[in-house]
Amino acid sequence: DANKETLGFQTEAKQLLHLMIHSLYSNKEIFLRELISNASDAIDKLRFAALSDGGLLEGQGDYQVQVDVDKDANTITISDNGIGMNRDEVIEHLGTIAKSGTAAFLESLTGDQQKDSQLIGQFGVGFYSAFIVADRVAVHTRKAGEAADTGVIWESAGESEFSVEVRDKADRGTSITLFLKEGCEEFAEDFRVRSVIKKYSDHIAVPVMMLKPAMPAAEDEEETVVEVPEYEAVNEATALWTRSRAEVSDEEYKEFYKHISHDFEEPQTWSHNKVEGKLEYTSLLYIPKKAPFDMWNRDMARGLKLYVQRTFIMDEAEQFLPLYLRFVKGVIDSNDLPLNVSREILQQEGSVDSMRSALTKRVLDMLGKLAKKEGDDYAQFWTEFGQVIKEGPAEDFANKEKIAKLLRFATTHTDAEAQDQSLEDYVSRMPEGQDKIFYVVAENFNTAKSSPHLEVFRKKGIEVLLLSDRVDDWLMNHLQDFDGKAFQDVARGALDLATDSEEEKAEQEKVQKEAEGLVERLSKVLDDKVAEVRATSRLTDSPACLVVGDFDMGAQMKRIMEAAGQ
Ligand code: ADP
Ligand code: MG
Repeated sequence: DANKETLGFQTEAKQLLHLMIHSLYSNKEIFLRELISNASDAIDKLRFAALSDGGLLEGQGDYQVQVDVDKDANTITISDNGIGMNRDEVIEHLGTIAKSGTAAFLESLTGDQQKDSQLIGQFGVGFYSAFIVADRVAVHTRKAGEAADTGVIWESAGESEFSVEVRDKADRGTSITLFLKEGCEEFAEDFRVRSVIKKYSDHIAVPVMMLKPAMPAAEDEEETVVEVPEYEAVNEATALWTRSRAEVSDEEYKEFYKHISHDFEEPQTWSHNKVEGKLEYTSLLYIPKKAPFDMWNRDMARGLKLYVQRTFIMDEAEQFLPLYLRFVKGVIDSNDLPLNVSREILQQEGSVDSMRSALTKRVLDMLGKLAKKEGDDYAQFWTEFGQVIKEGPAEDFANKEKIAKLLRFATTHTDAEAQDQSLEDYVSRMPEGQDKIFYVVAENFNTAKSSPHLEVFRKKGIEVLLLSDRVDDWLMNHLQDFDGKAFQDVARGALDLATDSEEEKAEQEKVQKEAEGLVERLSKVLDDKVAEVRATSRLTDSPACLVVGDFDMGAQMKRIMEAAGQ
């Protein structure tokens, strides 16, 4: 056939397929969720494109996904009337172009099937999951608004190659047929497929249709009556966030999270709110359990899914939350923004600022609530996202106090590396007369813990925060006080421990006097190396230590600047 072309899968796609086929069979049914999710994405894309070009709808604006099973042929077909693909797009999206997630996905594999199959959605490689249950897959697609003869068939047995061939398609959209493997016949069973759709796709805003089960024909019926096949929606098919909280079950919230985040884990917590008044919008915000693999990548996907009056507008609308809350997933549906809103317009809209500050508070309150909950949910949250929260005080001055309450530290109270002590904990343990919150910053936990600067604090039983994360110097530069108590770096300047008794003060003065000669000699020897030599009562075991002047850069900051070539 002259118009049929055979092409090779890109290397990583090949590896991925091999994996799907040979090792991910413990959670087979997820392929259906991935394919329905793609169908619903394709419909969202068309709905959006049609806002500016109604012709794309070809006079047919009822969106739907249709699932057909054929027991005799042992196939299942998932069809949508969404945006569709042209020939180049088919080749690009289903075969040759390396996706950013593919390599990362392969690197993250653990060998544990259950865990690995959970990674599929997260890395944006859902289409290939068809090969978990099929030994051959055929995709027939045609782009909305283009001629019927631009239809394309993509076909593959999931090995090293696929073929593309021109084939007329009267209706726009995509139809994917899976030729089921031996042992996967269950996915050609109406009942089984319905239950999988209910389980995973109930919250999808577009109806997922299946043939109504045929009624057994009554005996006296005329043979000439031809039944027209009738379809019915299998899922709930209303946008989940438009329903009232009382109507939505936890299960539905969790499934919806998985749908929008491509995460296979359940969310840690969520918050669903309808705001009425000057601004009208609905928000549904989720905190994930695990940090995404690319959280430290500047180009990582972040932001909320934006809808305007229930019409999908864009993914990754970053304007609604600050950078330090970039791990939050969710949906925002506004009644005030124009349907043709663009990223540029979002940046100028005053209402976006008000929404952003309300949503930020909402997330911080949700985290505050999580922190108060019994159990170790918050500890888990902190392990995953604590480093990002520490960027908060620098970025979000207005919410400094709220963010400070969410911080967790390692301290000399436990001397353990786990960051599990709050500032409120610290303050509640402060002895009478202590008016500062002391901290030490070092390159790593052990260096912090064994810092000679701590000797006098340990002797006096005064708690010190042990800081050793990269962002800690940055954090402490932006946290001046908490609960009216100033922060004090124990390695900085002269130490005035307000708790010193009169007796201790007298002792210190004596030490100063006795050391005068020694200080003078040391000052001469170290003249060009240090700014000042001082006698101190801060050491109990070590003979000497280096301190940083009150107004100098922190040691950690200095290292960062040096590394940056400053
Ligand atoms: P993701 O959905 O995360 O992008 P997938 O592997 O599931 O990754 O899909 C790959 C790409 O193939 C999609 O981004 C889309 O461009 C295209 N695609 C898949 N299914 C459809 C469909 N039903 N209609 C239109 N395009 C599709
Ligand atoms: Mg997908």
